[in-house]
Amino acid sequence: MSVTIEKLLRDNGVILEGHFLLTSGLHSGLYFEKFKILENPKVSALLCSKIAIHFSTSGIEKVIGPTTGGIILAYEIAKQLGVFAGIAEEPEVGKRIIKRGSGIKEGERVLVVDDVLTTGGSIRATIDAVLERGGKISGVAVLIDRSEKSLNLDYPFYAVYSKVVENYPQEDCPLCKKNIPLTRPGGKKAVPSAEC
Ligand SMILES: [Zn+2]
Repeated sequence: MSVTIEKLLRDNGVILEGHFLLTSGLHSGLYFEKFKILENPKVSALLCSKIAIHFSTSGIEKVIGPTTGGIILAYEIAKQLGVFAGIAEEPEVGKRIIKRGSGIKEGERVLVVDDVLTTGGSIRATIDAVLERGGKISGVAVLIDRSEKSLNLDYPFYAVYSKVVENYPQEDCPLCKKNIPLTRPGGKKAVPSAEC
């Protein structure tokens, strides 16, 4: 499974190799350009179908994703599962809320989805937002899991593609020591401690 998915990601320019400054402020030799997936409906739909199939018998009633990429994925996965989608917005850093649309009913079975898992900050904040509204977490899924440590969630977890990627603080970065030029990918400004 992973070899085919990896080829798909490489062929579509999602997996980049080099020397990157992540949003977290850490350096890494590998970067996942998630917008190469999100801007491509065909690739997005294909990757989302893996998640939809995985959770097809879990009785999911709503799919919730955090802004920005999570909205697109939640919509596509909800479409494939034949349920509604919702958005977890971030009115302040680290805090997410579900305020638009029909919200979440008490006890509703929710699948939380996101694009790339690095530290799990967005996922955890989205889970909290669902629980706060009385929802029940039936599963958590991401397209790409690049986390160094397991999230240790109490819910069924699924990643379409997993790759353990080492990140380095600047002072310990082997790529800096080799004088490889540092690039800052993605649209977000690099801020220490922010979610990647
Ligand atoms: Zn470096």
